[in-house]
Amino acid sequence: MVERQLRRRGISDERVLRAMEEVPRERFVPPEERKRAYRDGALRIGEGQTISQPWIVASMTALLELGPNDRALEVGTGSGYAAAVLSRCCREVVTIERHASLAEEAAGVLRELGYDNVEVRTGDGSRGAPDRAPFDGISVTATAEREPPAALVDQLAPHGRLVCPVRTAGGERLTRFHAGGGKESMVSVRFVPLVEDPGGD
Ligand code: SAH
Repeated sequence: MVERQLRRRGISDERVLRAMEEVPRERFVPPEERKRAYRDGALRIGEGQTISQPWIVASMTALLELGPNDRALEVGTGSGYAAAVLSRCCREVVTIERHASLAEEAAGVLRELGYDNVEVRTGDGSRGAPDRAPFDGISVTATAEREPPAALVDQLAPHGRLVCPVRTAGGERLTRFHAGGGKESMVSVRFVPLVEDPGGD
């Protein structure tokens, strides 16, 4: 996976590649999907949600350019896989999931693997985690309409970066936003929508 799906397609950040090598992706997918865990695509994880393709997880992590002492926020824990990868690339991670069942499952797997620098929260991640801000990097793994939620941008450290898929006239684009303003449109992607109501289903 690391050689064919990541290195050959331009992922060069060695820390990210090492994290992708180290984190057992099969532990984050349901038993019936386990034999497909390392294939080059997204997988179903329950509650109608998906775990992103390895290349997307690696790209989003690399775009945050995290240092070993940095702190990261993830919105959309899902299986916990991307949070696990992030946790190998920085000091600590707060990740928020609106489905309590997914959050609990992800927290369980992360605990079993000993990734104790990840805090999993249940709730509306579009509000971020103001009590833990600022963050050096924020990764949103669900698509926002046009712009990422303002609360998240406000929780970035002065040099921070936020990576988020946004729906624009040109389709769904993975975009990197900088704390001081400025953004770069990276690649065309498909994510589930970011749901901005705290009440659940
Ligand atoms: N990063 C995940 C994949 C995320 S799929 C992984 O590695 O497996 C997107 C997730 O975002 C879904 O689980 C969905 O429930 C969640 N989500 C959508 N809107 C949200 C919101 N406002 N707050 C928190 N989680 C949200």
